Amino acid sequence: MVSYLSTLAVLFVIVIICIVKSYSSNKTVAAAVRLALYAMLVPVVANAVIAISDSRMVNYSANIFYLVGTNLILMALMNYIVIYCEYNRTLVEKIGYFILIIDSISVFLNPVLHHVYGLEKISLKGDNVYYTLDSYWYHYIHLDLSFIVIVGLITAVVKKIHYTSKLYMERYLVIGLSFVYVVIQEFTNTLAKPVYNKSMFGFMICGILIYIFSIEYHQFFLTHKMFDQLFKNMNSAVFFYDNHFNCLYMNPASHKMFDIQPGEYEKPKAYLTEYITENNLSSRESFTGKKVLARPDRESIFQVEFRKLFDKKGRVMGAYVILSDRTEEEKKAAQDRYRADHDMLTGLYNPGAFHKQMQRCLHENPDREYLIVATNIKDFKLINDVFGRNSGDSVLQRIAETLKGYSEQGNIIARLGADKFVMFVDKQNYDEEALINELSDMVWLDENKEYSVIIHLGVYEVKDRTIPGPVMVDRAFMALNGIKSENICRAAWYSNELRESLIWEQTVSRSLDEAMHSGQIIPFLQAQVNTEGKVEGAEVLVRWQHPTEGLMAPGRFISILEQDGHIVDLDMFMWEEACKILHSWKNTGLKNMYLSVNISPKDFYFVDVYEVFTKLVRKYDIPPKMLRLEITESVMMTDVDMKMKLIDSLREYGFIVEMDDFGSGYSSLNLLKDMPVDILKIDMAFLRKTRDTERAKIILQQIVCMAQKLIIPVISEGVETEEQVRFLTDIGCNMFQGYYFARPISLSDFEERYKAS
Ligand code: C2E
Ligand code: CA
Ligand code: CA
Repeated sequence: MVSYLSTLAVLFVIVIICIVKSYSSNKTVAAAVRLALYAMLVPVVANAVIAISDSRMVNYSANIFYLVGTNLILMALMNYIVIYCEYNRTLVEKIGYFILIIDSISVFLNPVLHHVYGLEKISLKGDNVYYTLDSYWYHYIHLDLSFIVIVGLITAVVKKIHYTSKLYMERYLVIGLSFVYVVIQEFTNTLAKPVYNKSMFGFMICGILIYIFSIEYHQFFLTHKMFDQLFKNMNSAVFFYDNHFNCLYMNPASHKMFDIQPGEYEKPKAYLTEYITENNLSSRESFTGKKVLARPDRESIFQVEFRKLFDKKGRVMGAYVILSDRTEEEKKAAQDRYRADHDMLTGLYNPGAFHKQMQRCLHENPDREYLIVATNIKDFKLINDVFGRNSGDSVLQRIAETLKGYSEQGNIIARLGADKFVMFVDKQNYDEEALINELSDMVWLDENKEYSVIIHLGVYEVKDRTIPGPVMVDRAFMALNGIKSENICRAAWYSNELRESLIWEQTVSRSLDEAMHSGQIIPFLQAQVNTEGKVEGAEVLVRWQHPTEGLMAPGRFISILEQDGHIVDLDMFMWEEACKILHSWKNTGLKNMYLSVNISPKDFYFVDVYEVFTKLVRKYDIPPKMLRLEITESVMMTDVDMKMKLIDSLREYGFIVEMDDFGSGYSSLNLLKDMPVDILKIDMAFLRKTRDTERAKIILQQIVCMAQKLIIPVISEGVETEEQVRFLTDIGCNMFQGYYFARPISLSDFEERYKAS
């Protein structure tokens, strides 16, 4: 009895522990497990009482609780199986409960009906008395019902095993077997009717197994299998090492990656030994890094993850290494990095990367001297337009190649956009002549059309490193823009003067309008006299009465305006001023004086000169012969026929057209042959500029002689000395203009001085 009771007690305690522990589980099945365990306590306690008590009454009642208790267990197990095996609640289950409840009521009625059992007294050794059951007819029904329910439960488990993956078999198999064990126990108990009812052991062991498998068991086998599948399907190579770095496991990916045969455990060690020593892995707990593996046919880049595994006491259990092939990703990342930093067309840096690299270089080499060289293709738009965009792109690529070829010493080169390139060069290595030579050779051939690509360079010397990079680059371009429209490849260096002059250019361009409106643009008049010294007229010369710069001569602004096209505004203004003056002289002592105005070659592009002048003389009611028009030879450089006609019509209308600065150009004589002009103006600068004045004088003499033969009067301008006057008079000059007679003066001064004459 002692061994029976102690076994019962031990199992009882275990069941109690399971009940307590089940409360801390959050699994859905926990409540059902707990219910089954609680149910087990009833018949167990009843059996303990049966074993201990000698009283017939107590034994009789305890047996009722034992039988009803088994019913409770069966009901709890039905509930458990439905939840554990994830069955839907069915009518069969409900009928099961119903029958077991009726059966329990029936058992409770035994003291009245005496249909289940009676007690038979057995005396054991010593004083112990034991009552054994004397089964009546209903007891067999009760037992049959219990068997039917248990068999039902076993069937449910078998069905579950059949329909689920083999991986999960153990979960259900153990529960099913424990039910079978219960059946066997019950069966032997009923047949053998032992002194002590051992069927309780079966129930409790079953309960404990249910607890373990439903709640505690982590499905070791299952997870192991899953890990195995995971490693097998992984693209990364996985190696497990023991505490002496012997390989224990490697997955199929590692075989493929490193050409290892399954089981060649030494090879991966060899592969990694170098890496392990390189990175000192044996003394590290974990490490992540990259490894490049060069193979004859390709190079692979691996992401390496190494980690040591420790037991609870901190002793090394082993380690694992995971090698993931990152070759593609790395390639893509490298491409992305390249794209982020480079211009796709030329492969040069883009502006952002250029500035970053330039700053880095400046920072790393504080003692070196650097230059920023900017390049620009002249009329690049034209190349695009005439030869097509693809040709334009090819030109850009060729320039990029030339720049790259020129700068092997690690210069930083970028394309800043469109046709703008910039180089950051070590001053020592900069050979401007060589660079220009290389760039000058660039000729674009397309369908037999040849086009010289003209490239201008702007150079900025980095002196003050605190100036922001973009400003330095701007200055290089500023120098470049100073070259303007020249048709040869050449370089210009940035200087403070250049900067000043560019700023001045901008100021001039921007303020002309305002200057004309506010009376800052004024006409000065320089007298023209005849051989007797009598003033016959004057040339109108512009002056700018600038608020800060003072009175400015045209040299300071005319060329700027000619370049930006504003010259036409100024000229039209001046022409009108001249007309106003002539109009105002109409009834004065100056009424016979003519005025000659300057026409810039650019004016012909922007306005219909004929229309403007004819309108003006009509508007101010002036005879056209009083307004003389000075044009220069350069006017005749383009559209000769059109301009000839234009000049003809102006002359027909009555204007007198003068050829200004005759002799300063190259085609003068040729022009004279066809040019329909009324007067030639020869500048004495012609004499001043030469060392051999005698030869110059001979030429002058011939020009005047020729003009006389063509019956074209000559005005000599820039006449400064009496000697010049004498010489010019001798060779037959008709009119003079120059400081010797008069400087250009304001209108009021002019009127004051000449009104009497
Ligand atoms: P230009 O048409 O050849 O005018 C004659 C220039 O010679 C004037 O310079 C005049 O002051 C200067 N000059 C006159 N006599 C002497 C002399 O004895 N010695 C020296 N060294 N120079 C003398 P300015 O007024 O400075 O004008 C310079 C140029 O600016 C003009 O040369 C003309 O090409 C241009 N210009 C002046 N006014 C206008 C204008 O209203 N429109 C346009 N388009 N150009 C103008
Ligand atoms: Ca002139
Ligand atoms: Ca002149």
